[in-house]
Amino acid sequence: MIDAVTSYHNHTTWSDGVCAIQDQIDEARRLGLAELGISDHFVLSPLLDPVEWSMPVDKLKVYLEELRDAQSANPDVVLRLGVEADYFPETIDRLRDILTGAQLDFVVGSVHYVDGFPIDESGKLWDKLTEDEVNEMWRKYWIGIREMAESRVFDFAAHLDLPKKFGHRPTADLTEYSDAALDAIASADMAIEINTNGLNLPARELYPSQSILQAARQRDIPLLINSDAHIPTRLTEHFAAAAKWAEQAGYSKLVWYKNRKRYKSS
Ligand SMILES: [Zn+2]
Ligand SMILES: [Zn+2]
Repeated sequence: MIDAVTSYHNHTTWSDGVCAIQDQIDEARRLGLAELGISDHFVLSPLLDPVEWSMPVDKLKVYLEELRDAQSANPDVVLRLGVEADYFPETIDRLRDILTGAQLDFVVGSVHYVDGFPIDESGKLWDKLTEDEVNEMWRKYWIGIREMAESRVFDFAAHLDLPKKFGHRPTADLTEYSDAALDAIASADMAIEINTNGLNLPARELYPSQSILQAARQRDIPLLINSDAHIPTRLTEHFAAAAKWAEQAGYSKLVWYKNRKRYKSS
């Protein structure tokens, strides 16, 4: 049975979270988490520089110093150092250079934009799209995920099937594209996460869907369960539902990260 005792994908005021690093640590201690990860947004955007919900891109070092200070000050909590970085074809080489030298435990890979369209910003933007445009957005999203995996810059993919956030599902069969994205994730030896935040949104479903999760399981893609918490009270929100979702897809264990490597599973 899956027992989710780590929570790696979480935010603080370093990006769009509304709590300090210490607040997340205090809650992790209270919950008895085996490991806590902090993964604030690090976005090298070709569109707007800087993106308002990212840490300033020249502050990565200071962010990591603050996390290391927090590790020293809280030796009873295992704190893993991460970032959630966006994939953009225009900036991926720069991102690779920056992250190669950084002392991180894990890098979460995200696609939040498709050709400049902010996928998870507003339902109203999606409402303006025609059915064909919605399908095209999804198709390009899966191509973005495939390219993200092919870049080999990231350790695990965040919230797969994010475009469903506001309830806009594709009417076309895009299995060919989601399969190609999952094949690339498997080839890159990346993992994926069940991101429980989807249950709080109009999508009313965990990310990713059961069919995507089963397709990932068929490819032996490793799995994490995360909540994408922007406040400490959500650190393990819906984890029981996520464990069931994972088991339903055939998963029986989760993976852990340290020094950019999967070092353990449970
Ligand atoms: Zn995200
Ligand atoms: Zn996030």
